[in-house]
Amino acid sequence: MTTVAAYAAPAPKAPLERTTIERRAVGEFDVLIDIKYAGICHSDIHQAQEGWGEAIFPMVPGHEIAGVVAEVGPGVTKYRVGDRVGVGCMVDSCRECDNCEAGLEQYCTGGGMIGTYNAVGKDGEPTYGGYSQKIVVDENYVVRIPDGLSLDVAAPLLCAGITLYSPLKHWGAGPGKKVAILGMGGLGHMGVKIAHALGAEVTVLSQSLRKKDDGLKLGADHYYATSDPKTFEELAGTFDLIVSTVSAPLDFNAYLGLLKTRGALVNVGAPEEPIALNLFSVIGGGKTLAGSMIGGIAETQEMLDFCAEHGFGAEIELIRADQINEAYERVVNSDVRYRFVIDTSTI
Ligand SMILES: [Zn+2]
Ligand SMILES: [Zn+2]
Repeated sequence: MTTVAAYAAPAPKAPLERTTIERRAVGEFDVLIDIKYAGICHSDIHQAQEGWGEAIFPMVPGHEIAGVVAEVGPGVTKYRVGDRVGVGCMVDSCRECDNCEAGLEQYCTGGGMIGTYNAVGKDGEPTYGGYSQKIVVDENYVVRIPDGLSLDVAAPLLCAGITLYSPLKHWGAGPGKKVAILGMGGLGHMGVKIAHALGAEVTVLSQSLRKKDDGLKLGADHYYATSDPKTFEELAGTFDLIVSTVSAPLDFNAYLGLLKTRGALVNVGAPEEPIALNLFSVIGGGKTLAGSMIGGIAETQEMLDFCAEHGFGAEIELIRADQINEAYERVVNSDVRYRFVIDTSTI
């Protein structure tokens, strides 16, 4: 066991504070990672505030982890000390079900994926995330960060990046396709970069035009305000694919109206309340309303290699650990461009 400095929420809705946690001894197939940077994902806040249901406390959030391998177990073959690596939203899964075998570990049906935090590991102990200085993870749930990517801008790719990459690939974003990214936050800005790099014609649908200059700079071809009713008239029947990153309640009927015949609206945002849907919005036009959750380990590696090849990471604001609580407030108020990343040396 190793004692590690961390930032934790001691109870639901309580401010995060500095503490220490125990990491398990490095097992045969484990990698000990010196965490350098950890991104702040909106889902950290949902969970620390129990917005998605009862959670485990104390909670050390953080599932956008970038660091350097400090030690490997005797059975480890994929990584060596000094390698630059990342850990995303899961640290284990059953490894035996059809989904695990197909590289869809995020949809494990053999008990579900084991979250990087707010979960219980196979050793029966709670998992603690990236707002800490070290983590021990099985090598099969670790990915390699290519040399071309700095660790700070790579960290948010481990959740925000893969959350957008997976549905954009699955639903065929590419040349000749009109893709809309709904929401221009931590997830949305990665959607713009990735959809553009895949060759799609990209439109941002954001509440206001406040971030229009950024959106165009990051690769969007068009930018519309959803607060303007004319947007829905002008863009009716336009898109092959809309990826919604919004976690607030939305008028899904209105957004389905922006799809072409047989287009798809894919949700990666997770509103806390159920939605109201008129099914005629999908029946007419043969449309699809779908969801997607992060991506598998192999696909996460593919995404990191893709981002490195195209020369981009996330747009970040680097903060100290004592700024985490303030950062949470700013994330809730959509006041971040576009991801807070904690320099974990300041914990
Ligand atoms: Zn996340
Ligand atoms: Zn499984």
